[in-house]
Amino acid sequence: MNLPSLDEPNLAGGRIQRSSSLVEDVYEAIFAQLMSLKIAPGSRITVDSLVKEFNVSHTPIREALGRLEGEGLVLKTHLIGYRAAPQITKRRFDELYELRLLLEPHGAAKAAALMDEVKLAQLQESAGVMARREGKDERLRYSNFARQDAIFHDKVMEFANNELVRETLAHQHTHFHIFRLMFHSRVTEEALDEHEAILAAFAAADPAAAEQAMRRHIEHSRDRLLLTFD
Ligand SMILES: [Zn+2]
Repeated sequence: MNLPSLDEPNLAGGRIQRSSSLVEDVYEAIFAQLMSLKIAPGSRITVDSLVKEFNVSHTPIREALGRLEGEGLVLKTHLIGYRAAPQITKRRFDELYELRLLLEPHGAAKAAALMDEVKLAQLQESAGVMARREGKDERLRYSNFARQDAIFHDKVMEFANNELVRETLAHQHTHFHIFRLMFHSRVTEEALDEHEAILAAFAAADPAAAEQAMRRHIEHSRDRLLLTFD
């Protein structure tokens, strides 16, 4: 890809804009393949094969892979190249769920105590996006669900009003790692009902109910995915 030179100021804006949405498209496509296990955990990712598959230049592929590296889904080794991050271990899985159970039910209770109509509408919107089964591509739907689930849980922690706790959870990219354990509609369908229960507690501004609904959701999520390690 040729970046516009400085003496073409009118072209610059358009081209850069186009190229950033191209990076976004390429990123989403690779993200969907990683989340739906089309790119297997631990496997090599060659830039050349992605160039061929998506029919784009190296630049957007490298930019997309760099972003995925920042999210812990892709590893880059000097002189060797890229590979998909390995599946999390059972030990790390247990640790992640212990961390979530320590922090998120309490966060949900705090968020419920501080709930107002504006926040409730935001939470309902982000849960609602998950419920809509848009698009034919099952892989894209699954990866979108994983991202939206991450956004929903992050929003609850934002409204719980403790940035350190929120950052601690966000830093783990938990949702990307756990959704990648299994590519199955059960993971998404049951979670929708559990989110409804959390939203009902928020709508009632009931801290005890919100804490319990969040705890149940995380425990059920853990139990659904535990099957991966059998
Ligand atoms: Zn969830």
